[in-house]
Amino acid sequence: MPTRRTMLRSAAAFGATLALPRFALSEIAMGGATLTIVSDGNLVLPGSMIGAGLPEEELAGILAEYGLSRDRMEPPCNVTLLRDGTNTVLFDVGAGSHFMPSAGKLLTSLDAAGVAPEEITHVVFTHAHPDHLWGLLDDFDDPMFPDAAHYMGRTEWDYWWNPETVETIGAERASFAAGAKRRMEAMEDRFEFFDDGEEVLPGVAAVATHGHTPGHMSFEINRGGDPVMIVGDAIGNHHIAFRRPGWLAGSDQDAETGAATRAALIDRVAQDRTMLIGFHFGEGGIGRAERGGDGFRFVPDAG
Ligand SMILES: [Zn+2]
Repeated sequence: MPTRRTMLRSAAAFGATLALPRFALSEIAMGGATLTIVSDGNLVLPGSMIGAGLPEEELAGILAEYGLSRDRMEPPCNVTLLRDGTNTVLFDVGAGSHFMPSAGKLLTSLDAAGVAPEEITHVVFTHAHPDHLWGLLDDFDDPMFPDAAHYMGRTEWDYWWNPETVETIGAERASFAAGAKRRMEAMEDRFEFFDDGEEVLPGVAAVATHGHTPGHMSFEINRGGDPVMIVGDAIGNHHIAFRRPGWLAGSDQDAETGAATRAALIDRVAQDRTMLIGFHFGEGGIGRAERGGDGFRFVPDAG
């Protein structure tokens, strides 16, 4: 009889033959740690997620520049893996198998990076949207990372834990709320919480970047050498979000706050020349913001 784990493994291996993750192993070495992008696959989203009420002509120019369609986006999903010889930390867990067929490839990518689910020591969440959280449980509703401590920002947890959220979030996101609550309930006793500015783990500081969700967090990683910022969905792509950070994005729950957060964050990281990792950035997911034209540009890391 195959065990539950061997079944999962062979399922993951079978998936790999169908659709290889696009960016399996973008990597950046810091002083005492390595950050590796482990792909969860990609999303397939309607053009409405770009946002309504934008100056369409200007938008068309940016979309053309990046070879993108107005009707459909296929952003990659870049989970970050931090390894320092002692800890093996995941930032978000991907979508699991119940969100979109094009996503949920994390186990395959971890396997390619030589990491078994049991080796993950910590899981740290940027926010609780399906493409970041739903990989929390396996197909048997058991923890996907059974030996890991799990961390979420307190504001984010409280929002999705609130039974009223499913009623107030709006029809198109009600399934996000139900899906988050169900998984968080199953894992409640494994979670710990943190606030803005706190060191979640040594050299991993939480930076409040609210707006995409009410409690969205980014993480500044300081492990010797230059810091790296994991921005999650506070900067939601490597194209429009950089070219026009202040435009309202349909993917942000609070579009006004999301735009203000994004504009301030990009300004800061461009000024400081901070290396970024974005969950939905293309071009390998790792790079810097540079001021250019009348906005910014994402410059992928050459290494
Ligand atoms: Zn996302």
